[in-house]
Amino acid sequence: MRAFTYSRADTVEDAVRALAGNPDARFVAGGTNLLDLMKADAMRPAHLVDISRLPLDRIEETEDGGLRLGALARNADTAWDERVRSRYPMLSKAILAGASAQLRNMATNGGNLLQRTRCYYFYDSGTPCNKREPGSGCGALTGVNRIHAILGASEHCIAVHPSDLCVALAALEATVRVTGPRGERTIPFAEFHRLPGDTPHIDTTLGADEIVTAIDLPARGFAEHSTYLKVRDRASYAFALVSVAAALEIEGGTIRAARLALGGVAHKPWRDTEAEAMLVGKPAEAASFAAAAQAVLRGAKGHAHNAFKIPLAERAIVRALSEAAGVQTP
Ligand SMILES: Cc1cc2nc3c(=O)[nH]c(=O)nc-3n(C[C@H](O)[C@H](O)[C@H](O)COP(=O)(O)OP(=O)(O)OC[C@H]3O[C@@H](n4cnc5c(N)ncnc54)[C@H](O)[C@@H]3O)c2cc1C
Repeated sequence: MRAFTYSRADTVEDAVRALAGNPDARFVAGGTNLLDLMKADAMRPAHLVDISRLPLDRIEETEDGGLRLGALARNADTAWDERVRSRYPMLSKAILAGASAQLRNMATNGGNLLQRTRCYYFYDSGTPCNKREPGSGCGALTGVNRIHAILGASEHCIAVHPSDLCVALAALEATVRVTGPRGERTIPFAEFHRLPGDTPHIDTTLGADEIVTAIDLPARGFAEHSTYLKVRDRASYAFALVSVAAALEIEGGTIRAARLALGGVAHKPWRDTEAEAMLVGKPAEAASFAAAAQAVLRGAKGHAHNAFKIPLAERAIVRALSEAAGVQTP
């Protein structure tokens, strides 16, 4: 591990100032991802700004009937919050499907959004990785790529975003609140994470000098008909091979609204609004779910070891939508 300097921010303004003009500085919140990456020499910040004591750990009601999740609220406190559990059960389930109890006690919501890929080549500083070292190549393309992307990848990067929380936030149409030297702004969740293109080292649209302060959930939580399904190699303490956040509004057996987002398949949480639109007006039954699943996977592309994810994702979508609708899984 390389030497670095450390300071602690007492206010959001302090934190933003500490990063301004210092491209080698990074925030540290729970530290559960950043410190691992520093130990692996995959990230090399020269200065850490500790934001863990900023007053951003509350979960509050918003005026429009939604909830504001503080960026520093812990993943565990968010998942077990009674309002989250009753109004956004899909979100609670997604968080509890991730990591371990100890990690969730430490990990923050902001840190979860900004966590980096678990691609083996990103972690291994002895191999090429365009995300870690732009221009060095992609070890995964011709290497071991079982956990990699099947949607939205590029010739420069086939890494996936590892978060569970973010998949549910994509389906819920959350908004990310950020503060920087130019003041506050909000970023719709769909625009927060990026596809790799030819700049895979840039994960998000957050400015290098901005801090995430909160995540706003809209009033609509799909509490009645939603679920989060995570398919992985082990039943716990494993990242998703494929995950699905599925939410429906159903009236008299007909789908009135649908949300569908996938994890483990792309560089960002993969929401498919066209497949959602296909479901509206259809009966809440397996045939409708299967048609939507096929539409989501239409452009999917597998590599040497991960082509199995395409049928796996199709089946996971049908199962998640069936569970959300409360109908028998085929
Ligand atoms: C063994 C293991 C298993 C895991 N399994 C899962 C899993 O199954 N599912 C899952 O979703 N996650 C999983 N995780 C990841 C875990 O959820 C993340 O490590 C955690 O959410 C990161 O939060 P943190 O507060 O510790 O972030 P940190 O490590 O403190 O920070 C992560 C990044 O976010 C930046 N950052 C932090 N807060 C802010 C902010 N407010 N504004 C701007 N930038 C910020 C930091 O600069 C850093 O770059 C696992 C982690 C481990 C170690």
